[in-house]
Amino acid sequence: MDFLTVLNDIQTQIQPLLGQGKVADYIPALAAVDSKHFGMAVTLNTGEFYGVGNYQQPFSIQSISKVFSFTLALRAYREELYKRVGREPSGNPFNSLVQLEYEQGIPRNPFINAGAIVVCDSLISHFADHNSNTVEQILHFIRACSHDESINCDRNVFSSEMQYGYLNIALANLMKSFDNLENNVDEVIKTYFRQCSIVMNCQQLSRAMLYLADHGSDPITGRAFINESQAKRINSLMLTCGHYDASGDFAFHVGLPGKSGVGGGIVAVIPGKMAVAVYSPALNKSGNSLVGTKALELFTTMTGLSIF
Ligand code: GLN
Repeated sequence: MDFLTVLNDIQTQIQPLLGQGKVADYIPALAAVDSKHFGMAVTLNTGEFYGVGNYQQPFSIQSISKVFSFTLALRAYREELYKRVGREPSGNPFNSLVQLEYEQGIPRNPFINAGAIVVCDSLISHFADHNSNTVEQILHFIRACSHDESINCDRNVFSSEMQYGYLNIALANLMKSFDNLENNVDEVIKTYFRQCSIVMNCQQLSRAMLYLADHGSDPITGRAFINESQAKRINSLMLTCGHYDASGDFAFHVGLPGKSGVGGGIVAVIPGKMAVAVYSPALNKSGNSLVGTKALELFTTMTGLSIF
């Protein structure tokens, strides 16, 4: 299949949509991006790569980082992890407090903020036992699966998140009050915001996610990161929970497991074949890239490559 032609076609078709949606503006560091940017990248399990537009533009991966941290936590705790975080779609916005109180501090899934904060907490405990730092370990993992040692956090985004982080800090305190955080709230929140501030581009992201397109192993190097069953679970959760209260809509239109971030990125996995990353910072009402969602819908429609 001629993927470059497909990507070029998609770039042409989405042009009228650029300008719709709204860039995340809850922190100044995110509001400053160019809302007209669009980039898309495909890395095949064979190593072939295709990219169009701003596919090398670095952006804040935000909630996409939750896939990497959940991978590490699942590897460390296996089934035990589900005592502290569920695996059902929330049907609520990513930063909702309400459900968390009703459900006694156990977040619905690892991809809403509360779930990712619990995952962070579990990683802090785990890596403390191994005398290492959680943010360093998350970065180490992302660098290993993207084969790129240059990936790092953005300090500016991190300090902005800390300054305006009232809601996430409230989520963490609520869970602490229900005894679902082991470490102190400040440390957990700092770790969570550091992972959200990691910067990557579409090329790096599509490469990094290939382990989920090949049963937990990097299809290019053969290196196993997680086992087959864990990869299946992560993909399932990305399909059902990867886009918060718009997860059903994303599954309906795109038909792939995917994860979005408020920085405007989305990654999607086509098991056995490839990973696709798209970047366009203007968001829809649920906080997912508006053009990115459309571009992925066009991709699966034009190529016939979806999981269904
Ligand atoms: N840093 C963002 C927040 O905590 C991450 C959320 C997201 O990308 N959806 O609000």
